[in-house]
Amino acid sequence: MSAPPPPLPLSKCSTCHARFVPVDGPCPRCGAATVEPYAARPDGTVLAVTALEVPPPGWERPHGLALVEVEDAVRLLVIAGAPLPSPGSHVVVRADGAVYRVGPAEQVERGEGEVPTAGRARLSFEPPR
Ligand SMILES: [Zn+2]
Repeated sequence: MSAPPPPLPLSKCSTCHARFVPVDGPCPRCGAATVEPYAARPDGTVLAVTALEVPPPGWERPHGLALVEVEDAVRLLVIAGAPLPSPGSHVVVRADGAVYRVGPAEQVERGEGEVPTAGRARLSFEPPR
């Protein structure tokens, strides 16, 4: 048995209750200044995947991205290593500083997550609502 994966650090707006990756500044949804830390379960379900064959300069090619829904229907666009996870699969999202990612080592059954250790990523964000 391995240790459970660490909670996923997100932020929550005190005004509109939107949850999102931590940002410097006001709530990206309503503009309120009161944003507080929010620890979410790191496991979620892959909704969609894609690979950028022509990523921005400095990014790995192909650059895999996965749209993952974690608890409370929070959707995160995260870096995904090869092979890309399948839509519908359960994965664990890991925060590496300001970067969020998921990879093949994190594809686990719900509740049996392992802490991912490999891969590099540069950007993640929550899509606009
Ligand atoms: Zn807000």
